[in-house]
Amino acid sequence: MSTKPDEKELQLLSPTGGKKHVELSPIHDFAAKLVQPEILPRLKEYVLWQARRRSQQEGMEALPDYAPVSINLDLTTACNYACDHCVDMNILNQKIHYHHENLLRSLELMVEKGLRSVIVIGGGEPTLYRKFQEVIQKMKEWRLQVAIVSNGAGNKRIAEVAPYLEEEDWVRLSLDAGSDEVFQAMHKPRKRITLDEICEWVPKIKAINPRFKIGFSFIITWKGASINDAHIIPNIDEIYLAAERAKKYQFDYIAFKPFLTRADYNNAEIVDLKATQKHFEEVAQKIESEVERAKALETDTFKVYKTTNLKVLLNRSAHTYMQQPRSCHMQFFRQVLSPLGMYNCPVYRNQSHGCLGHKDAYASEENFELTKKKTAQLIEKFDASRECREVTCLYNHANWWMEELIRNPQKLEELEPRPQNPADYFL
Ligand code: SF4
Repeated sequence: MSTKPDEKELQLLSPTGGKKHVELSPIHDFAAKLVQPEILPRLKEYVLWQARRRSQQEGMEALPDYAPVSINLDLTTACNYACDHCVDMNILNQKIHYHHENLLRSLELMVEKGLRSVIVIGGGEPTLYRKFQEVIQKMKEWRLQVAIVSNGAGNKRIAEVAPYLEEEDWVRLSLDAGSDEVFQAMHKPRKRITLDEICEWVPKIKAINPRFKIGFSFIITWKGASINDAHIIPNIDEIYLAAERAKKYQFDYIAFKPFLTRADYNNAEIVDLKATQKHFEEVAQKIESEVERAKALETDTFKVYKTTNLKVLLNRSAHTYMQQPRSCHMQFFRQVLSPLGMYNCPVYRNQSHGCLGHKDAYASEENFELTKKKTAQLIEKFDASRECREVTCLYNHANWWMEELIRNPQKLEELEPRPQNPADYFL
């Protein structure tokens, strides 16, 4: 049985409640994103659909006629690194590919059905996709917001698509090291490339188009962290060095996040450090002091962030993000498209219990209808309170907030559209 936050807590979650949860950075305030003028009508339709569905004895009304607002798009499973800390190690370099025209058809149909943003990300290195440039160019022609997460080895290709990107788009490079020595040990690039060579591209990309932000992503690892029964190279001593490097090479920010591993019970992605563990205090204190030191490097044009899941880990509130309602409503608003199939959440890439269909799940009207049915079934069947009980779920607040609206649909009348400037549709 899922534990519902108390009334005061829900007030804090609600965009109409005025305040927000302290740890949620604006990019992770998904409830606020769902009340933007363009999205609010479909939020209302979804809430009313759920409210009606729950009061019906039998039969299921079709899900409202929308594609997700936002998807994670894995362009390929191919990767040119062999990172020791990769959560997707088991799904890399598969011999499964998109039929390119079907991929474009899927994206175009999703745009017609309300898709507003795409995060081009992993389960593989996106710049290795043969028609990377064309996909980015097309998505921008369709007025999508586009983000790219890359390992940096394909920065030449990022530079090629830079002219298409706009202020609200972003690029983030997963680098995780301050020195080349630790970078090589952690990432093991198959073709020689140094951390300096990667970073030297950033000023060049900015010279082509300075309008969008480029971030340096740093997953913090510590002694004793492990995944797939293998120990991970610790980089905790390079937090400051990496921030110095990021600033020197004109990144707009560096973001620190905790290392993730896979849960034994269902392969969910979970943080590999618990407040109950013996070494927690030592690791947490070291992270706090090093990130604080890095913060001294901040300027108007360079920021140092802790991601939401690092903040909640350090302030010992991660457990509140692990108490999910039974239904995960975010499955309707955000999904993952990969050559391996369509999935309900980035946490369940290539996991059969999160599967919504195959890679062409949105490639035709007929497939779209089937995927809608499957999405409705999974929203009904997938018990997030059980499956995601160890996941520090960043969508936890948005899910509880929607749950409260479904239980009290009259509250929808109080919801006013709230524009953001610029609009942010990344979920
Ligand atoms: S509850 Fe959170 S982790 Fe679980 S499927 Fe939903 S969004 Fe993903």
